[in-house]
Order: sequence, then structure tokens, then C-alpha cells
Amino acid sequence: MFGRSVTLFKIFGFSIRLDASWILIAILVTWSLAMGVFPYAYPELSHADYWWMGIAGAVLFFASIVVHELCHSLVANHYKLPMRGITLFIFGGVAEMGGEPQSAKIEFLMAIAGPLSSIAIGFICRGIQMVGINANWPIPVTGVLGYLAWINLLLAGFNLIPAFPLDGGRVLRAALWHFKHDLLRATRIASVIGSGFGILLIIFAVYQLFFGNLVAAVWYFLIGMFLRGASKASYRQLVLRTALQGEQVRRFMRPHPIAVHPDMSIRQLVEDYMYRYDFKFYPVVDEADDLIGCVTTNQVRQMPKEEWDRHQVGEVVRPCSPEDTVTPDTDAINAMQKLEQSGDGELLVTERNHLLAVVTPRDIVNFLAAKLRLQGSSTPISHTP
Ligand SMILES: [Zn+2]
Repeated sequence: MFGRSVTLFKIFGFSIRLDASWILIAILVTWSLAMGVFPYAYPELSHADYWWMGIAGAVLFFASIVVHELCHSLVANHYKLPMRGITLFIFGGVAEMGGEPQSAKIEFLMAIAGPLSSIAIGFICRGIQMVGINANWPIPVTGVLGYLAWINLLLAGFNLIPAFPLDGGRVLRAALWHFKHDLLRATRIASVIGSGFGILLIIFAVYQLFFGNLVAAVWYFLIGMFLRGASKASYRQLVLRTALQGEQVRRFMRPHPIAVHPDMSIRQLVEDYMYRYDFKFYPVVDEADDLIGCVTTNQVRQMPKEEWDRHQVGEVVRPCSPEDTVTPDTDAINAMQKLEQSGDGELLVTERNHLLAVVTPRDIVNFLAAKLRLQGSSTPISHTP
């Protein structure tokens, strides 16, 4: 889902990451606080004050988002759902889940934990602000506290809109799931509403444009598009998961994989394989098809062209990454995750170091398409919690 991101720190075992797109929203929030919100609310302060308040407000706002996502993650963790950490990005924060909750109750508790924490932070900040005002604390301090109270309640409110995959949409899905006993159908309904809300935001963006509010229009448009994309993607992902559940790699792996031998020259590897096929790495096998290692396009690129004739594959071969290998018994969902994470576009299927087959994303998609066609894609697959 994310492009470039850096890990800030770890808390309770969860990595907190910043996506590159976050920089834009961080600047926008700080700038609008220092130039708009605070000068409007407290006209008597200095420019320097506004900027300090803007920076403090923005930092604490993003800290509040991390707490919100942490609460989702802690509940998920309690119910043994694998979590991949928290990422701050242009539209706020997200706690990445490595699976679906096992029951409607878990989904509900997980979803509601975030907004509840935001409401709690909001009221706590308001309480401290009241104490501060009574004790005559400096206005910049009480001002920032007031902003935090307001923004956290706003955050809770926005997230409680029943538009999947927002928290409110997850609560709605949990309710539908609980009453209809059908996760797939519940997700379909919740994601249609989520997508509809996305369209509503886009219409609102156009409306803003007529009034000359360009920044607001762009913002609503982007959030609308994001929500639409996210709601559809979540539904697709669930269909995929449901169809792949319990399937093993052996059912769709492709036998007779393209492999090279160690006594082959690098030139031959480039001419006969790398120019012909589009793989990022090639398995190297001996006569018995036992895996010796892997050779990557990157390794070859580092070698000067003049030396390609003088060197053989066996000289540059390295052990294959465990991220690129599976066994025939590997679960299809695991294989898919590995493909996603490595980005190498191919997995080697080995058994006792013997190279049996390969798996590419296309093999999984073809298998899935065939399976859904045979099942009839309109047949809902029931889950009883
Ligand atoms: Zn949330």
C-alpha cells in the first residue's frame, strides 16, 4: 500500500513508520495552524508564538493519531491478529492488519477502540485546558490544548462515519456480520456504502470548487478517491482470501520452471535468458534439478560486459532468499503475501532442496478466476462466527 517509508521507533512491539506522503500533510497542518487557526482564535499573540503553537499542535496531533492506531493494534494483538505496524501517511494513520478478524465481536471491539481513544484524548485535553485557564497558564499552552481537544473529537467523529474501511464502517460490517452470519455479504454492503460516501465527498469537492475554495476542493476530492479505492480494495481482498483459504501452492504451481546451470557463461545467461524472460532472478540447478542457488539481474549488472564471456554462473551464484522460496504445502495466502513483500514477481517451489516448480502472481489469479467461475461468483461463502 505504501511507497517509501521510514521506521521512527517501536512501541509495544509495533513499528511506527512515516510514509513519504506524510511530509505534505505535516507541512499543511503546521502551516494552517500557524497562519490560520491560531491567529484567528488568539489575535493578540506574536508570529513566533503562532509558529511554536503550530509545530507543537501538529506534533501532538500526529501523536494522537498514533495512540488511536495503537488502540486498534492492541485490541487486535489481544485477539492474536497479526499486525504489521502503524504508518502515518497523507490521510492520517493506518494500522496494517495481516488478516481478517475471526469474529464480528472482535471486529467490533477492534474498530471501536480507535474512536473511543480519540474521544478520551479529546476530553482529557479539554480537562487540562480548563485547569490551565483557571491557573492562568500561558495562552499558547492552553490554546494548543484546546486545539487538541477539538481535533481529537473531530477525528473520532469522522472515523465513526459508517463508510468502510473507516472505523464506523467496520462497526457497521461487524453488526451486519453478526446478524447475517455472512462476512462476505456484510463486507460487500459496507464497502458499497464506503464507496458511496467517497462519491459524496467528490461531489462536495466540486461544490467547494464553485465557491473558489481550491485547497478544500482538492482535499475532499483526494479523500473521496482514497475512500472509494480503499473500500473496493478491501472487498476484493476478502473475496481473494475467502477463495484461497485452505488451498496449497501445489494446486496452482507451474512445473518445469526455467532454470540455469552453473557451467553456463554469463553471456549465455544474459542472451538466452535475461533478454528473453522478464524474471528478476533465476534459479541455478545441477543435473538432478537440485537447487544450488540463485542469480539475479542485479548481480550481472555489476559485472563489466567485457567479462561476461570469461565468467560462469557458478562463480556468482548466491543462496536463494527464503523470501523467494515456498514448499508445495505452503498456504496460498502465505504465498501471496510473500510475493507481495518480496516484489520479485516469482516464487520457487522446492521440496528437500529439489526445484519442483514456480509460482507467479498470474498463476494465483488464473487459479482464482477458474475457481470463482466454477463456483459461480454470486454464491456467497458463509462464515458463522
Ligand atoms: Zn481508527
